[in-house]
Amino acid sequence: MSLENKVAFVTGGGRGIGKAILLELAKAGANVAFTNRTPEQGRAVQAEVEKTGRKCLYFPADVSDPAAMEKAVEETVATLGGLHILVNNAGITRDQLFMRMKEDDWRQVMGVNLDGVFHTTRAVIKTMVKQRWGRVINITSVVGHTGNPGQVNYASAKAAMTGFTKSLAKEVGSRNITCNAVAPGFIETDMTAELNEEQTKAILANVPLGRMGRAEEIAKAVCFLAGEDAGYITGTTLHINGGMY
Ligand code: NAP
Repeated sequence: MSLENKVAFVTGGGRGIGKAILLELAKAGANVAFTNRTPEQGRAVQAEVEKTGRKCLYFPADVSDPAAMEKAVEETVATLGGLHILVNNAGITRDQLFMRMKEDDWRQVMGVNLDGVFHTTRAVIKTMVKQRWGRVINITSVVGHTGNPGQVNYASAKAAMTGFTKSLAKEVGSRNITCNAVAPGFIETDMTAELNEEQTKAILANVPLGRMGRAEEIAKAVCFLAGEDAGYITGTTLHINGGMY
């Protein structure tokens, strides 16, 4: 298996895309660790991942809390013997037209989607540098490239993650660490379940493949970027959106 002897850390693995990524990485042979804020979901996912025969650590920890992320990463390295793959997946939306957007709608989205990436990557990067091997994979979004009405906060955070990805790739490339982004289009998860029929229809009208994506389709791409075969890919964004962008 391609990820045998590797350790992966995934933020926001309690459901949706993060959960699919955990299962795919474990099936490829990696031992995994993950965070979320809802312990019932976290424990259920942990049990499901363990059925693959791989080790799985679960931390009920918020990515916007730097100390909690330091602790979770430290425990992962100590228990699983290293940390090779980081997937910054945790994300939230607080959609609102800009004219009505509250300070809190902005801060919460930045705190989780962007500050969370900073805290988690900072906690992980020294271990990767010492190992002279690492993969940082950031889950951004098509709307960070296209913009989207009602999502000025979310699209700004996702676009900033693209700048983060490109810059970090340049800093750590000499240490054999790659840093890439995966930008999903509209994927069937709890995040998009909030869309009504009319909104879904309007979105699909712009998707040449004519359907929403599946979490597993994002997970497969993440798994590829995490492996040896993707060793010469860095600082780029892989768009997975059915052709909408
Ligand atoms: P989801 O179903 O809402 O799942 C998000 C996961 O992140 C949950 O496990 C959630 O658990 C966790 N999470 C949220 N805030 C967190 C925090 N502060 N600390 C730790 N964990 C946190 O969303 P999804 O659709 O799978 O999205 C995953 C990623 O893909 C996000 O970054 C999202 O922006 C991106 N994305 C999604 C789509 C889409 O169409 N679905 C499209 C483009 C990009 P708790 O709430 O229990 O903490």
